[in-house]
Amino acid sequence: MKTRRTFIKAGFLAGLSINLPWKAIATSAIPLTDKNNKEWKHWVWTHPNDKDTVEALQKRYERYYQAGIRGIFFEADSEKHFRQAKAARLEAHRWMWTLNQGDKSLLESHPEWYAKNRKGESCADQPPYVDYYRWLCPSRPEVINYLEQAVTDILAKDYVDGIHLDYIRFSDVILPVNLWDKYSIEQTSELPEYDYCYCEVCQAGYKAWRDTDILSIPYPQESLSWRLYRYRAINHVVNSLAKVAKSKHKPITAAVFPTPEVAKRIVRQDWKNWDLNGVAPMIYHGFYKEEVSWIGDAVAEGVQGLNGRFPLYAGLYLPDFKHSKELHLGITYALQNGAAGVSLFGDINEEVLQILENAATH
Ligand SMILES: [Zn+2]
Repeated sequence: MKTRRTFIKAGFLAGLSINLPWKAIATSAIPLTDKNNKEWKHWVWTHPNDKDTVEALQKRYERYYQAGIRGIFFEADSEKHFRQAKAARLEAHRWMWTLNQGDKSLLESHPEWYAKNRKGESCADQPPYVDYYRWLCPSRPEVINYLEQAVTDILAKDYVDGIHLDYIRFSDVILPVNLWDKYSIEQTSELPEYDYCYCEVCQAGYKAWRDTDILSIPYPQESLSWRLYRYRAINHVVNSLAKVAKSKHKPITAAVFPTPEVAKRIVRQDWKNWDLNGVAPMIYHGFYKEEVSWIGDAVAEGVQGLNGRFPLYAGLYLPDFKHSKELHLGITYALQNGAAGVSLFGDINEEVLQILENAATH
C-alpha cells in the first residue's frame, strides 16, 4: 500500500505494539454519546485489497460497526468493498488524492498545470522532497474543471456515499519537524525551493488583485496578502468541489493538517473556512514530536475554530502509539475535547477495535 497520507512517507504500518492487555486499561468516564446526545462517529482510512473475500469483508465490517465505526474512507474504487461496507451499515466514501496528481498522462499532456516554486522550478519535472510530489496549481480554472469532473465521476456511482479530499493543499513549505533529520533539511524559514506557487497564472492573479508584482518585493514569503491569496486559491478549489458534491446530495469531507494554525503555516490550508460536511485533521502527534496529550489540545483548537459549522473527527496515526493504553488515552483526549469521533490510520486489529469500543461505551 502506498502511504500516504502524510506528507512524506515517514513511517510504516507497523501496527500497534501492544504491551498491555486491553482489559487492564483504566476506563475513563466517556459517555456513549457526545454532549448533544449524538452517537460517536468513528472512521477508518484504508486501501481496498482485491484479495479480500466477500465473507471476510462481511465479518470485518460488522465487527467495525459493533466497535463504533460508522464510515470508511477508501483510497481506491472497489464496488465489492463499498457494497459490503454499506451492507454493514457503514458509510462508504471515496478518499481522493486531489492536488497531488502524479498521473503520467496528465503530466505529459498538461505540464503547465503544475505548480512552480519561488525559483521557477515546476513540480512536473522537479518535484520537491520525493518523486510522487506532483502538485497542481490551484489557481488554474482548467485544474478546477479537471477535479470537478473527477468528483462528478466518482459520485455518479450509486455505491459511493461521499467524497473525501486528501492532499488538498500546497506542498509543505515547512515539513513536520520529525522529518527534518530524514531529509537532512533545517527548515527554520520558508526556503524558495519549497515555496509554491509562483507560476505565471498565480503571479498574474496576484497582480490583478493587489497591483503588485510578487517577485518584485523583498521577502515575498513574508507578504500577508500573498499568503491570503494562496489560502483563497485552495479555498476556491475546495468550495468548487463542495458545490459538485452538494448537487449530487452527497457529503464532502477532507483530511487536513492537525490544527488551523499549523495547516495555514506549513501547507496554506485555511480549512476552518471550507464548505465541508466534516473534517479529519491528521493529528499525528509523532510527526510533530508531541505527546499524546497534545491530541486533546489540537482537537480543542480545531473545534473552537469551526464554531459548530461542521464536525471534526480526530485523525490518529496508529503506529505513533507505543502501547494500547496510549491509544486509549489518545481517543479519550480527542472525544473529551469536542471531536465527533476519531478516524484511524494503520492496522485496525482486534486490540484496536476493543480499545475503540471500550472508549466509546464506558
Ligand atoms: Zn500557480
